[in-house]
Amino acid sequence: MIIVMQAGAAQKDLDGVVARVEQLRLKPHVIVGTERTVVAVVGDERDAAGSGFESLPGVAAVMPILAPYKVASREVQSEPTVVRVGSLAVGGPSIGVIAGPCSVESEEQIVATARAVKAAGATGLRGGAFKPRTSPYSFQGMKERGLELLAAARQETGLAVVTEVVSPEDVPLIVRYADVLQVGARNMQNYRLLEAVGRTQTPVLLKRGPAATVEELLLAAEYVLDGGNRQVMLCERGIRTFETHTRFTLPLATVPWLHARTHLPVVVDPSHGTGQANLVESMSAASVAAGADGLIIEVHPDPKAASSDGGQTLDFNAFERTMRICRRVAEAVGRTI
Ligand code: PEP
Ligand code: MN
Repeated sequence: MIIVMQAGAAQKDLDGVVARVEQLRLKPHVIVGTERTVVAVVGDERDAAGSGFESLPGVAAVMPILAPYKVASREVQSEPTVVRVGSLAVGGPSIGVIAGPCSVESEEQIVATARAVKAAGATGLRGGAFKPRTSPYSFQGMKERGLELLAAARQETGLAVVTEVVSPEDVPLIVRYADVLQVGARNMQNYRLLEAVGRTQTPVLLKRGPAATVEELLLAAEYVLDGGNRQVMLCERGIRTFETHTRFTLPLATVPWLHARTHLPVVVDPSHGTGQANLVESMSAASVAAGADGLIIEVHPDPKAASSDGGQTLDFNAFERTMRICRRVAEAVGRTI
């Protein structure tokens, strides 16, 4: 349920509501908006039956949250969440672009890429150090050395670092280096991992599983939010369908659908979404037109030589061109890049 506080309710009234929620063994999430403060109450709401929140001082209204996801829902927070970390802001009027290689391979590779994507207008640097690969024989990433190289590239360019965490036990290591924790498509429903990143205060980029519904994506985000970490970005990265002409099918209707239901920002990954470098420019532009708050794009100095995902990776020139087109589309839809 949502307990809406009166405009100008005193802090002691809010404290009283929170205390009563906790007394009922439910969990309060206080959301302070510009116009009103609400307390989203989560847990088994049968425990709240007849609890009389309406009559507590400072309470304006009590209503049910209809969506199965609670803290993620627009019913609880009407204003968009803006995820901000270092150079990156996602969810505001300006579109955040995170670019970089699928995997960190060497200092020269990551630093050269960071410089090039920054010059083209990217505000975040991606690069996998811990890679979840379909085959156990494929390159698994440089692990901690890769994290050190990402930190060196951040030092050099100031770009916020986005990197994947594949298991709960790696979270303490990765938060020492990362500005954003990427939870990959294969781990979207790894609930112990979601709880572990939810206990940190490091922003999270949560990618949609290729066989997950958008409602399941929102419920996965809810795990992170319920843990106390409110800095969550959702990422559409394509789903598996009967279609084989692209690696995945990139459904862009997800973007406005999610915007209608959640305050969390939505990022699109046209690289994994298509699997083909020659489709990335158009689908990036289409994502911006559909209202994406951010893009995550794979870029490498020499895609043919990349140790993972080379076929869907842009070189520096193609990325620069993509940014130019996206900037024009952004302007047409009232945004900036
Ligand atoms: C990646 O970003 O390189 C990646 C592995 O993505 P996904 O989890 O979407 O497959
Ligand atoms: Mn990749």
